[in-house]
Amino acid sequence: MEIYRSFINGEWIESQSGKTVPNINPAVVNDTVGTVQIASRDEARRAVEAAYNAFREWKRTPAPARGRIIARAARLMEERKEELARAITREEGKTLPESRGELSRAINVVEFCAGESRRLVGETIPSELPANFAYTVKEPHGVVACITPWNFPVAIPAWKIAPALVAGNTVVFKPATLTPMTAVLLTKVFNEAGLPPGVLNLVLGSGSEAGDEILNHPAVKAVSFTGSTETGLKIYAQVAPRGVKVQAEMGGKNPVVVLEDCDMQLAVESTAQGAFGSTGQRCTATSRAIVVDSVADQFVEKIVERAKSFRLGPGDDAETHIGPSVDEGQFKTVLKYIDIGREDGAELLCGGKRAEGDGLENGWFVEPTVFDRVTTDMRIAQEEIFGPVLSVIRVKDFEEAMTIANDSEYGLSSSIFTNDANTIYRFVDEIETGITHVNSPTTGGEAHIPFGGVKNTGLGAREQGSTALDFYTELKVVYVDYTGRKREGNLY
Ligand code: ADP
Repeated sequence: MEIYRSFINGEWIESQSGKTVPNINPAVVNDTVGTVQIASRDEARRAVEAAYNAFREWKRTPAPARGRIIARAARLMEERKEELARAITREEGKTLPESRGELSRAINVVEFCAGESRRLVGETIPSELPANFAYTVKEPHGVVACITPWNFPVAIPAWKIAPALVAGNTVVFKPATLTPMTAVLLTKVFNEAGLPPGVLNLVLGSGSEAGDEILNHPAVKAVSFTGSTETGLKIYAQVAPRGVKVQAEMGGKNPVVVLEDCDMQLAVESTAQGAFGSTGQRCTATSRAIVVDSVADQFVEKIVERAKSFRLGPGDDAETHIGPSVDEGQFKTVLKYIDIGREDGAELLCGGKRAEGDGLENGWFVEPTVFDRVTTDMRIAQEEIFGPVLSVIRVKDFEEAMTIANDSEYGLSSSIFTNDANTIYRFVDEIETGITHVNSPTTGGEAHIPFGGVKNTGLGAREQGSTALDFYTELKVVYVDYTGRKREGNLY
């Protein structure tokens, strides 16, 4: 059986902690994929020290040279695409087409960041004094911690590590303990692409010990986090006293608004894709369908039919549409929310329980679930479930739909289904989310387009696209006086 180890200063280490955790296939829980050696606090500290010691040389390496290594990593990912995709499916559970899609996104991001290494440009600014000018340069922070969740175990680390390295930072990567195999494979890719020892370090450990130790280390100057809002805000508070920069992508409760004049088939198909695709385990998953009364019966009938048509199963089975929840904990959370929905008075239309038959009882499968007549004060309308559960909220008109769409502590993604151009632009103006879609699912994004949310979803600069390197760089402003004389007049 495979053993997953941490990677510190260019070496795979034997952990001294003596603690191990099994890596389990969520579709077939007696399939133990491997064993994770859990890093101790001391090992986490050594990873930060290795990154600290490697920083000066890496910062001095010209950005395009750093970018060449990142470009090589993209090529290696391309070569190993199938191996990486299968690893995602085996330890996270999503279907192979979904895993391959994740790999495509990750490769695109890494390629994009490699290109950015030749565009790490500043500004030249004319001074108000004669024979003076000013310019800006972008510099790295130092050691950056990348703390990532299990739901996109390749793409999310890739879209943090690649820009951090291109900008000249060194990295301590702390993935979720549920997805160690992909973290090891990704670390190998970057390492084999030619990174010097210490530039990228992998710590396989728990958030509460290894993660905590990394965050408390004085050499860590910035933290890029993706995960739950609860953890993200806790991390933000923990490092704030030291003035550490934080970028956090957290929870979502993404709505679609369905209006009378929409293409109903499109609205239903896109909502189903957004709600049940990737088993609902995406931060951009559709979890609220806000539908005007006049078409609500029609929408509900069709979405239930669609939800029942999905085939559940192991992600590597070509017949499977939807995989399992990632582990027992997540599975129980989803079932708990289904109970809460029932108790709060929502009408359960389909699903609502563990899936059975055809070997499904061997994994953490929940049937695609639709609740109707959900009201905005119910917990299933407010809290992130991270499972295949859709709440339908009926409203009288567009105005009420907007009030409810924005009645959320989260603000990641959203979508509207209508063919009225004026309404589309009113929606775009009024919706409180960092990303919005028109006549398409709430999920999905592109490597060269910024990604992130508002309200309790997002903190700090947007990831990816034109803003990908913003979080990872500091601006240095340089004033040059070439008069050779004492300054005439004053600058205020
Ligand atoms: P998820 O439910 O997606 O696992 P979490 O927010 O719990 O979301 O975890 C996201 C990442 O944050 C994981 O890598 C986890 O180990 C890490 N983490 C959790 N708690 C802490 C903490 N107190 N300090 C540092 N990292 C943490």
